[in-house]
Amino acid sequence: MRRILVSAIVLALAGLSAVPVVHADTRPATSAMQATTQLPRNARPAHYDVTITPDAANLKFDGHVAIAIDVLQPTASITLNAIDMTFPKVRLMSANGKAAMADPKVTVDADAQTATFTFGKPIARGSYKLVMDYTGKIGTQANGLFAIDYDTKAGKRRALYTQFENSDARRFIPSWDEPAYKATFDLTVTVPSAQMAVSNMPVAQRTDLGNGLARVRFATAPKMSTYLLFFALGDFDRATTRLGATEIGVVTQKGSSSQAAFALESAKAVLAEYNDYFGTPYPLPKLDNIASPGSSQFFGAMENWGAIYTFEYAMLLDPTISTQADKQGVFNTEAHEMAHQWFGDLVTMDWWDDLWLNEGFASWMQGRTTEKLHPEWNSALSAIRVRASAMSRDAVVTTHPVVQHVETVEQASQAFDSITYSKGESVIRMLEGYVGADAWRAGVRRYIKAHAHGNTVSDDLWREVDAAAGKPITQIAHEFTLQPGVPLIRVEQATCVAGHTALKLSQGEFTKDRPDKKPLSWHVPVIAQVLGTSKTARTLVTDGKATLDVPGCGTVVVNAGQSGYYRTLYSPQQFAALTSDFAKLAPIDQLGIMDDVWSLGMAGLQPASDYLDLVQATPAAADPQIWGDIAGSFDSLNRYYDGDPARQAALRAFAIARLTPVFERIGWIAKPRESDPVKNLRNELIDSLSALGDPTVIAEARRRYVAQSSDPTAMPPALRKVIIDVVARHADAATWEQLHAAALAEKTPLIKDDLYAYLSSTEDTTLAQRALDLSLTDEPGATNSAAMIANVADLHPELAFDFAVAHMAQVDTKVDSTSRSRYYPALAYNSLNPAMIGKVKAFAEAHIAATSRRSANTTVSNITYRIMVRNERLPAIDAWLKKKGSE
Ligand SMILES: [Zn+2]
Repeated sequence: MRRILVSAIVLALAGLSAVPVVHADTRPATSAMQATTQLPRNARPAHYDVTITPDAANLKFDGHVAIAIDVLQPTASITLNAIDMTFPKVRLMSANGKAAMADPKVTVDADAQTATFTFGKPIARGSYKLVMDYTGKIGTQANGLFAIDYDTKAGKRRALYTQFENSDARRFIPSWDEPAYKATFDLTVTVPSAQMAVSNMPVAQRTDLGNGLARVRFATAPKMSTYLLFFALGDFDRATTRLGATEIGVVTQKGSSSQAAFALESAKAVLAEYNDYFGTPYPLPKLDNIASPGSSQFFGAMENWGAIYTFEYAMLLDPTISTQADKQGVFNTEAHEMAHQWFGDLVTMDWWDDLWLNEGFASWMQGRTTEKLHPEWNSALSAIRVRASAMSRDAVVTTHPVVQHVETVEQASQAFDSITYSKGESVIRMLEGYVGADAWRAGVRRYIKAHAHGNTVSDDLWREVDAAAGKPITQIAHEFTLQPGVPLIRVEQATCVAGHTALKLSQGEFTKDRPDKKPLSWHVPVIAQVLGTSKTARTLVTDGKATLDVPGCGTVVVNAGQSGYYRTLYSPQQFAALTSDFAKLAPIDQLGIMDDVWSLGMAGLQPASDYLDLVQATPAAADPQIWGDIAGSFDSLNRYYDGDPARQAALRAFAIARLTPVFERIGWIAKPRESDPVKNLRNELIDSLSALGDPTVIAEARRRYVAQSSDPTAMPPALRKVIIDVVARHADAATWEQLHAAALAEKTPLIKDDLYAYLSSTEDTTLAQRALDLSLTDEPGATNSAAMIANVADLHPELAFDFAVAHMAQVDTKVDSTSRSRYYPALAYNSLNPAMIGKVKAFAEAHIAATSRRSANTTVSNITYRIMVRNERLPAIDAWLKKKGSE
């Protein structure tokens, strides 16, 4: 699954950690959230033969299923997962389905999300068929089988899709809905004959029933976990290409195929790469990627085997609005979901404790593959942003190990967080660097081969990498995945001895909120280099210390190449050398050092103003991604000054003075043959300068917005979104109404959704309130409401949180059930208001199960940290600005 990464991952780099839109649940606390999700182990399914007849108009469906089961020990009852279902008829049949064995009594437990079938007398061990007629519900948010309504130029449309991860297949089929219960599936559906039905496998047979309906039977899906099953139905187009034995398809709403051309072409390139990398070719006959209008607060795309589901915004490129960043996003999403076809689908974690095996690996594979297939994007630097978001989350008291114990459905949902994704990815990157890329790949190939169609735990992977590398990694891997936290490497001494630098290192722990914490211990692989030399030196920090002989003398970079998952603290003298040589460092080291200096400064381990010295030392011609990050950090710093206009003005003046020459070099209009990172930087700078209140940029954006009616070149497609964003952010009531009218009239879902997002991104509080009021009407569409409130929360956290809590009954219907307990606390995440701490705590106690409060507690930690930064760190920034800000 691809998490929603909020626009400003740069905020994470700046120590802020962007609002994690992936969050927990907020229904009133019931026993459901505390119920263990593990079923009794007395029976297991081998095959599901399912027939579904959806009634899209009435949001319900009829189902029939025959489950081939093996009863493993004599039992008088069988329990499986089911929710929101009724069971008109249930029978236990002989294995061949011919003889009726029993008519069990059905008991449904809504809190535990189970149905129990009780028999008059115990059933003997052996094989049976459990046959049921049942009915279920079609939702309006992305859980189970759900409907998405959308506008087209030809009128309103309704399409159906499924979303089952982590625990919603039980809304579609009464089933053993746990990842270890793999089974094969036959799916048959009765659907309007004019519509297209899509599932994991190709259509095996289609029968016209003559009454406007058709019966579609899909080929048998291979043995897989329930959460990977998929079904969609609607007015779709499908375009295909082929690689070897695999048909690759993109499925879109009618008329949008051409916007999926890049996704289709990318899928082909990525499939070729993965067939090679994994050493086991993609095993299904087809691989579709299905684009859906709408959005979720939980995810952007889902790796159903052979039928990846992706929201349109992450898959389609509309030539009138899409940007270079959108294009890179499409590729990244595709590379992530396709990596899951092996890591997740072919080999699946045994239980949610090891979710990171799916998500950390797919995230790492996505980054690696993007670098390899699109070197022109220079995306190696994005690994630093990923690591920064992980370390930011990992350094507060509410962190947890990468491998963690999960007991409830809610906890499984909460496991989809930046520790699982971003720390998982960063640790793999470090381990790959430690054993070498070839040994790592050999280990992965062995792992896939050994466990195809099976389930695993993390140690199964370590064992294969150990064997392939001929070098043990298990201990290091355990220390970074079984215990939480971020190592801190202090450079105690760097002495030049006969042309070498003798380094003395010590290991502590980096925390943002527990300065007196006793550090945990890690074996930390460290790579160091002297600037200007080509040789690196490596060591493994053990028992808290290490010495290291680095070839050459001069400015030393620890964590050279930045593959290590740790923070580096230099002495003031070493830092001064790094600052004066900053322009000469490799871009990835510049970015890594900037991130360390920012985070260590905010945590009080070095002066907070050191970061600004690095900004001063950054040449205008530095890598565009460095400037993109500086712009993001200025944004964050600016937010810390909210409510204090005089001091904020000094920061803004400095930030605008630093960013303007960089922006002037690239200008508003793309130059022929400019690089892709420059295209991205243009939009990032416009966005940041707007947030900093730069009158020149705001005026030019407004001029272009007004001029578009008479001058078609005023708003080129690549600038459309950012210009409207600037105009909306600084809108007055008349402008807001104009945007509102445009949103109402828009018939393309992709553009319409954006317009509602802009309407909820205003600085003006009155207009923000109007956006909140609008969000709960029927106007924006069922999946836009929650996003609008979250957008308001970005600039007005208190307003949005109070509003959502006051309208909880309504808001609950607008958020997918998987996300509710994370959704509300996250609205307060960016607050600097101490009163919000009490409010979030009170909300959690009233509405979130005690076992599911990690997201709420993390919000509390973040607000506490932000208040500390504002009170204790900004004075050093003020003093620096006064002294050096105008140099
Ligand atoms: Zn994923």
